[in-house]
Amino acid sequence: MENNYLVELAQKYGTPLYVYDADKIAQQITRLNNAFSGINLKLKYATKALSNISVLKWVRKNGAGLDVVSIQEAYLGLKAGFEPKEILYTPNGVSIDEIIEAVDLGLTINIDNISILEQFGHRYKDTVPVCIRLNPHIMAGGNNKISTGHIDSKFGISILQMRHLLRVIESNNINVIGLHIHSGSDILDSEAFLRGAEIIFEAAEDFPDLKFIDFGSGFKVAYKPGDVTTDIEELGKELTARFKEFCKTQGKELELWFEPGKFLVSEAGYFLSKVNVIKTTPATVFVGLDTGMNHLMRPMMYDAYHSIENISNPSSTHRVYTVVGYICETDTFGTDRKLSEVREGDIIAIKNAGAYGFSMASNYNSRYRPAEVLVQGEKDYLIRKRESLDDILRNQVIIDFE
Ligand SMILES: *Cc1c(COP(=O)(O)O)cnc(C)c1O
Repeated sequence: MENNYLVELAQKYGTPLYVYDADKIAQQITRLNNAFSGINLKLKYATKALSNISVLKWVRKNGAGLDVVSIQEAYLGLKAGFEPKEILYTPNGVSIDEIIEAVDLGLTINIDNISILEQFGHRYKDTVPVCIRLNPHIMAGGNNKISTGHIDSKFGISILQMRHLLRVIESNNINVIGLHIHSGSDILDSEAFLRGAEIIFEAAEDFPDLKFIDFGSGFKVAYKPGDVTTDIEELGKELTARFKEFCKTQGKELELWFEPGKFLVSEAGYFLSKVNVIKTTPATVFVGLDTGMNHLMRPMMYDAYHSIENISNPSSTHRVYTVVGYICETDTFGTDRKLSEVREGDIIAIKNAGAYGFSMASNYNSRYRPAEVLVQGEKDYLIRKRESLDDILRNQVIIDFE
């Protein structure tokens, strides 16, 4: 998006502000559809990346379904107009009660542990079809916090427990219609996907009623110029060919599912804030923003790199700054970054802020969470109002002590 336009939006709606480019989200959906053409592809957008209901409605308009990891995300999806069946419910570590609630809503259920699967089987037998989340133990993903496939991971049912799994399924007559893997976020090489695919294709032999295979997500996106990313087109070509072969050996057309989060919304998002103060210390020039890690946690939480630009003054001399937030603890967005000369009052854009930006934001330090704006074509829509003190106090119970 153009710098001038972003500055205008910051002026119109105030800062801090999340801005999302709806057309970019649509393009990413199209890109995946094109890369995997010729097979029955279904996209299930990973809601947790960015769960504003207007974004969900846009995703739906563009033909994707949803992957949800909590019952609350499922309710958001239903409210956004998704059919229950189009919503894949992929929780981890929830109670059977929440799974029963999801069944009652009519969601597609994905189960990731044997204990719950057993309880599910006792209760429903073959009346409610399920997908099984397997853990193929492929080491992939950007770092340990976001890798989910390794041997120490809490996710999925280990591929090494296949005998046990099949026993539970057979003895309860459970109807398995899908197999799922999701090996983590920021997976670089298509090799990891293809290795996962081979494992799941082999496992599929024990599941005669499969309707879909779900390869999860983890597509890596570029956070800075020159970053290597998952080559979607290349992966599409290889996996499509392999999947067609697999369908042939199965004697039926299965659906291939993905659950992209980051890939759909990361680049579409800009996080705008204003420079409150320039502070020069003996060692460093700090740019202090009117926001903090409470609004964009990824740099502090995952050591994530986000590009930072001074969009108010883009063509001045570049100087080295450390860009920090206003939270009262170490709160750094970027260290030793070259920015076009920064002045107090300038608008700073943090890029790639669409995924795991607002959805992880909190009111820490009793700060209001940012407003959100969706831009579609020539139009900008406020899709979340800025908070006020009432929001901070909501649900707090004020006691008047004697
Ligand atoms: C988080 C998550 C995703 C999305 O991962 P991205 O790296 O954002 O694409 C997909 N599937 C499941 C089950 C997840 O938990």
